[in-house]
Amino acid sequence: MLDLLKTRFGYDAFLPHQEEIIAAVMAGQDCFVLLPTGGGKSLCYQLPALALDGLTLVVSPLIALMKDQVDGLRANGIPAGFINSTLTQSQIAQVQQRVRDGAIKLLYVAPERAITPDFQRFLDSIKVSLVAIDEAHCVSEWGHDFRPAYRELAGMRQVCPNAPVIALTATAPQMVREDILSQLGLRQPRRFVSGFNRPNLTYAVTPKKNSLPALVSLLERHSGESAIIYCLARQSTEDLAGALSRHGFQAEAYHAGMDADLRRAVQDRFIRDQTQIVVATIAFGMGIDKPDVRLVVHHDLPKSLEGYYQESGRAGRDGLPAECVLFYSYADKARQEYFVNQLEDTEEQQRAQQRLDQVIELCNLRTCRRKFILEYLGEEDVADDCAGCDVCRSPREEFDATEIAQKILSAVARTGQRFGAAHIVNVLLGSATKQVVKNGHDQLPVFGIAPGQPPENLRDLVKDVSAQGLLESTGGQYPTLSITPRGRTFLKNRETLTLARPVSDAAPAQTAATDSGFDPRLYQQLAQCRKQLADARNVPAYVIFGNRTLQDMARRAPRNRVEFARVHGFGQSKLHDLAQPFLAVINDYVAQHGTPQPTEIPAAPDRPTPSRGVNMAALETGRLVSAGASIEEVAEQRGIRPSTVLDHLDRLAQAGQSLQVEHLMPNPTRRQAIEKAFAATGDLRLTPAREILGEEYSYDELKLVRLALYHPTTNSDSQQQTRQPNLTSKPGKPRP
Ligand code: ADP
Ligand code: ZN
Repeated sequence: MLDLLKTRFGYDAFLPHQEEIIAAVMAGQDCFVLLPTGGGKSLCYQLPALALDGLTLVVSPLIALMKDQVDGLRANGIPAGFINSTLTQSQIAQVQQRVRDGAIKLLYVAPERAITPDFQRFLDSIKVSLVAIDEAHCVSEWGHDFRPAYRELAGMRQVCPNAPVIALTATAPQMVREDILSQLGLRQPRRFVSGFNRPNLTYAVTPKKNSLPALVSLLERHSGESAIIYCLARQSTEDLAGALSRHGFQAEAYHAGMDADLRRAVQDRFIRDQTQIVVATIAFGMGIDKPDVRLVVHHDLPKSLEGYYQESGRAGRDGLPAECVLFYSYADKARQEYFVNQLEDTEEQQRAQQRLDQVIELCNLRTCRRKFILEYLGEEDVADDCAGCDVCRSPREEFDATEIAQKILSAVARTGQRFGAAHIVNVLLGSATKQVVKNGHDQLPVFGIAPGQPPENLRDLVKDVSAQGLLESTGGQYPTLSITPRGRTFLKNRETLTLARPVSDAAPAQTAATDSGFDPRLYQQLAQCRKQLADARNVPAYVIFGNRTLQDMARRAPRNRVEFARVHGFGQSKLHDLAQPFLAVINDYVAQHGTPQPTEIPAAPDRPTPSRGVNMAALETGRLVSAGASIEEVAEQRGIRPSTVLDHLDRLAQAGQSLQVEHLMPNPTRRQAIEKAFAATGDLRLTPAREILGEEYSYDELKLVRLALYHPTTNSDSQQQTRQPNLTSKPGKPRP
């Protein structure tokens, strides 16, 4: 399989889970695969298709994508075809014949066609070795793209009873997952579920004041790259596309009100890089499989967090850095609430309000945005600091928040734990608002005990204190604050609290991440060559090569076949067909400029710089632990949570600080099992490793063992140096 991977696809190694999934498929087992976008799902059936003797049938919901998918496979010399309504009867008959002749190994069809008696008769006449059901969430009414025909796919089993079925999706809340398993009639399926994190995406929320200049400068940073801008209303897509065009960008509008032909044309120009920017309603999406979208902007609030994850997730499918930016204003919130209030069905209204509240919460967060999204999606034990969202990237300073936290908690207590944050802030500031006076709170000893500061500051502090687990908020339209048991302990034991706040006048965090280490001028010329080849073959540029391949080519500047074969994504077929024109470009370049000069290599975007998060607090934690203290002792002594202690250690270890952590390790048997699990997943993410280990192992144990694995060679324990050779080759893998 590894051979096929290299010769056909030009890749050197499997991505996480691919190998196991392929092994299961080859063993004839049904599989359920939930991997995030860009996780490499297609390969999980494409590779077996090459190795199995019969046909692999791929059920895919989007007719518009089939041609590109098939073109992409053929460019790698893989015999693929499709049958859909864009073909004539005689073309269909031709494809069927080629399947019978074994000249097509992978056949793409839409579910509606797959279930017709005609097509089933055809299947009956050939050997089907594997059925792949892509975008399997379409089977569920709970999902966002329900397609009734998916429901009938279970019937395929009668036609090809011996072919295993592999169902694949990138999004599936619990309810949808269960639907997929039951509705598709999978037989004792192996389940492969990995985390939702998209480490190559950065997230940022920007105030929507004066948004056009902000948008323009974002787009300038991504000039020449593909971007999607989402708006709520059809009219605003047209207005904004117009405004951007006047600023000299190639921008087009896209919405459901447009004529189907026009929409297809916009989509096509976007895929073929003739239009850089599409300003769209969320109608623009499912059909977009473009791997090199570098920027997704939400110019208006998304309707739900799941929607946001989906839409922003269209960025960076190729695994290279990409940016997701959300513009937020209070006016937008009010406008959306207005729409929600128009809904007639009260239950529906409540659900819509709840979804909107979650989006607002995301916008107002003072903690990691990625963590919030991932936890919403059901992921557990997400690191507190992702180093890849605007919150985590903004410079922060720590301060002693003990006194203000005490004041906030007292105000909550004295007002009877029946009021929300705004009211508490008024009491603390000493603002005698109508509410405050009516409740007699201007008579309380806590009235005005934190005067003379901007109310937003206090509001943020209340949020931070809640985030520390000292306060909790009831949900609903008028949430109220109450003190948690943890908060009571804090008061009773006179604990201290350290918080971090943004350094106020620092420059905003730069969110664009640029990969480099290759010569940008050579890259440009290679990209031009790719474009010419693509246009000549009438396929999108990415069918020729993805950007990663181009970058790797610019980095290595290969001069012969052997060197070309080393380039990421250069399989044999492409070596044969495509090496020549690129070689000509490289030769010309070298003749003119000499050997390519890589640009300076900045820290990789998904890899924290050593100073990240290694603040005084973390260092102090590290000092205590290295002196032999246990996690609990440090937590106790410093008045922080054990999870924070672990987080500190994690940051220090990642940053390469030397730590003495042997005394924290689980017993050798468990430790070894955990190390094996990390080695099996090929990286240091917790969720996949825990999937292997099962619930008997806690995330905390995994985190502890991981401390010694980040930089095995610098660790004091010499055993580590040899134990994990395959991990040392990937030190930069991001945390979940
Ligand atoms: P998904 O369907 O899960 O969103 P794709 O199948 O489109 O993901 O794969 C995402 C990208 O990763 C594609 O460009 C694909 O060619 C690439 N890819 C897949 N497997 C590997 C691998 N083993 N090594 C490197 N790149 C891979
Ligand atoms: Zn973050």
